[in-house]
Amino acid sequence: MNRYENPFDLETILNDIDLLAPHNPAAKASIDIALHDLVGKLMNQPWYNIWGYDKNKAPFTSFTIGIDTPDVVRQKTKEAEEYKVLKVKLGRDTDKEMIETIRSVTDKPITSDVNQGWTNKESALEMLHWLKDHGVVMVEQPMPKERIDDLAWLTERSPLPIIGDEGVQRLSDVKNAVGVYHGINIKLMKSTGMREAQKMLTLARSLGMKVMIGCMTETSCAISAASHLSPMVDWADLDGALLIKNDVFDGTKIINGKLTLMDRPGLGVIPQTKQGDR
Ligand code: MG
Repeated sequence: MNRYENPFDLETILNDIDLLAPHNPAAKASIDIALHDLVGKLMNQPWYNIWGYDKNKAPFTSFTIGIDTPDVVRQKTKEAEEYKVLKVKLGRDTDKEMIETIRSVTDKPITSDVNQGWTNKESALEMLHWLKDHGVVMVEQPMPKERIDDLAWLTERSPLPIIGDEGVQRLSDVKNAVGVYHGINIKLMKSTGMREAQKMLTLARSLGMKVMIGCMTETSCAISAASHLSPMVDWADLDGALLIKNDVFDGTKIINGKLTLMDRPGLGVIPQTKQGDR
């Protein structure tokens, strides 16, 4: 086992960890996130300052409206009043009904995620035009990630930005995403953490791509870590900590739908004193 004397040597430490075993990006991210917190605290600076990002430019986060009966969808949409952008999962034969139901309640922008669910490129293109006409602003992973040629065909013609999620996991995937997608969805649990995520963001930007930051179901620890990159993204989907009841951390908050980063060193995360108090 290696011993490391210097926690600032993130490049060596995190490369070694990545080489320990293939895959396991979330386990690797846990070390990366803890080390970033330590380094930020040793520097007495939050990561948005270390990276040179303006925390006031952190965007609104989308909030997911789950697929359900029209009555429940209408109710959930009304309850999501605080959120300025809604996210909808598509890729079923109820796609139009779902969008129309939300549109009967609100005209907020909608981001959508097909999760590889469409199989025919021509009907996918038709659907993209219909979605644009209904105020959808972006579509994630419309077709299976292996269908590179079909995805590129769709991206070339799409009236909406097409974002790769399942098809773009790590830094080495970014250059191959050019022409296949308009942009990438970065998640710390795919990228092995903050260090590689920031490299992905920088590379995608230099290649002229759009960038979204997303999450899995996570506590405020990982959400806060991801939020330090958010001032630089086009779309944020960081509602993961809202979906759990046992969040033991207090960090980046969502205030009036906007990601609000704490003025604290490291990740800006502290233990939550009262369970459920956010
Ligand atoms: Mg997705």
